[in-house]
This record gives sequence, C-alpha cells and structure tokens, in this order.
Amino acid sequence: MTDQPLNKISVVIPVYNEQESLPELMRRTDAACAQLGIDYEILLVDDGSSDASAEIMTAAAEAPDSHIVAVLLNRNYGQHSAIMAGFSHISGDLVITLDADLQNPPEEIVNLVETARQGYDVVGTVRQNRQDSWFRKRASRLINHLIQRTTGKAMGDYGCMLRAYRRHIVDAMLNCHERSTFIPILANTFARRATEIPVLHAEREFGDSKYSLMRLINLMYDLITCLTTTPLRLLSVFGSVIALAGFAISLLLIALRLFLGPQWAAEGVFMLFAVLFIFIGAQFVGMGLLGEYIGRIYNDVRARPRYFIQRVVSHDANTTQDKSS
Ligand code: UDP
Ligand code: MG
Repeated sequence: MTDQPLNKISVVIPVYNEQESLPELMRRTDAACAQLGIDYEILLVDDGSSDASAEIMTAAAEAPDSHIVAVLLNRNYGQHSAIMAGFSHISGDLVITLDADLQNPPEEIVNLVETARQGYDVVGTVRQNRQDSWFRKRASRLINHLIQRTTGKAMGDYGCMLRAYRRHIVDAMLNCHERSTFIPILANTFARRATEIPVLHAEREFGDSKYSLMRLINLMYDLITCLTTTPLRLLSVFGSVIALAGFAISLLLIALRLFLGPQWAAEGVFMLFAVLFIFIGAQFVGMGLLGEYIGRIYNDVRARPRYFIQRVVSHDANTTQDKSS
C-alpha cells in the first residue's frame, strides 16, 4: 500500500488567532505545493479564532482556482482536535500537517513528499536549531526520552508537527474514538515504516505561542495517556513499596521504643508525623494520576464529538454542512 504513487497532496494547517501570519503562510505553502507538479489542496482549520483568521481563509477559499479549503470549527478545541477535523475532509493520498505560525517553513513540504515517495507511511521531522525557550527544550528532551523508553520506537522530536502521513494512516487515526489524542504518537502506532528527516525551525514572527503553561501541562497529560497506561501500573508498584517501607518503619519504631524507653518515643511523635506526611503526599500523587485516567474515561463514555465543523468553504462548492466526529 505504501508504494502506491502519489496523485494528490493534502496539507492540513490548524489556525488559532494567526491573522498576521495567514497571508504569508498561504502564499508560501501554495508556492511550495505548486513546485510538486501534482494536484494539491490546502486545508486551513479555524480553531475558533477570535480575530480575522476565519474571514481571511474564507475569502481565500472562495477565490477562483483556489487550492485552499477553509474548515471552520464553532469554537476552540485545541491543535490536535483541529487537525483531526481537517483530516476528515482530505481527498489526497499523502497528508502533510504543519503549524500556521511559520515556525515550520512550508518549503520543507517538498522534502517530506520526496521522502514519503521512497515508501514510508509516516515521515517525521527533527527541528534543527530549535527556536524555543530553554524550558520548552528541556521539557521536550525529557518527553522524547520517555517515548523512546516506552514505545521502543525512536522519535527524535515528537513535538514538531511538520509531518507527512499516508492516507491509510490518517484513516486509521480517524477511526480512533478517544477524545484526547496526540497525533504524532497515534500515527506511529499505525505506521509500518516511519522515518525522520531534519527540518529548519524559525522563530515565531507574529504574536505569542498559543500554549500557556496550563495548556502545555494538559498536552503532556494527553501525550502520556495516549502513549501508555504504564503510570497506572507504576502507581501500584509505587504504592506497594511505600506500604512495605511504612511497615518496616513501624517495626523499627516499636523496637526502638522497647530498647530506648518511652522518653524517646515522645520525640518519635514528630518522626511519625513526617512519615505520615510522606504517605499523604504519595496518596495525592496517586489520586491525581488516577483522576487523569478517570477523567478521560468519563469523556469517552460521554462520547461528545471531538470537534464540530460548522462550515467548509472551497472554491468549487461553497457547502455549508454540519459534520461532527
Ligand atoms: N493552535 C490551534 N489551536 C489551539 C492552539 C494552537 O489550532 O488551541 C495552532 C496554532 O495556530 C498553530 C499551532 O497550533 O498553528 C501551534 O501553536 P503554537 O505555535 O502556538 O505552539 P508552539 O509553537 O508554541 O508549540
Ligand atoms: Mg509555534
């Protein structure tokens, strides 16, 4: 299936309040795709922007001979859900995702397509000279390490969204019913042949990152729960170790009380407090983790749509449709 020739490329770009970058983004992406010499479409997914992003992309999609398709969501669902919404409207055999803020140069699309042509299901990228804060880079390195340890699949740079996926991988992802997903990891679980190529990374020119600290933490939880349920198992191992240690300490306390007398034991009260605090802390860590999983189970049981597309605009058919998944 992987060796099928490519007839059409679909580029999916999530957009959240990026009105300054949009004109240049559309121009550069269009120019890069035009070089490929095959049919292409550029799906811009408006993730509930409050600026003029939706108007800009709708106008571009309505222009005659435009390759742009505007997918408008009714509110903000987050980057990964927006990309999923874009996936549900693609018509190409190879799908490229990239960020709207021009940190991923659209010119790299040509290299991604070339690499995919060599028979890969998924082409990932590793950002060279990454232009992000020191804190973000450290956090990424830690998570990269975790992914390599848990999946056994090397993934040099999970956070770079400039990636290419074959159509069957995208279809498999659309068939997943979980609400919170981390697309690069989900894709890797379906890939037979995956590779990574180095790409350039630019500084954000307009506005700030759309990820606040809280949103980043949320994304990390999505990533970890999407990746593995190992933390749940670790939790019980951790719990058993603590229980055993507690038992040992209580034996020690009894022995010391017998040998050193009640005088000593009165001072030991504080020691008991200390031990108690450790246990309470550990319990909270455990409960927090459990809560994360239960929250996700709750969301899946509730089965709310992952996104809701209000309108899709393309130049040949100005359709207004309601579609959710
Ligand atoms: N984005 C989105 N919805 C959101 C947050 C971000 O569609 O809720 C888009 C954003 O417009 C951009 C991409 O996701 O195209 C990456 O966001 P950003 O550049 O802010 O993230 P960073 O580069 O800081 O990781
Ligand atoms: Mg960015």
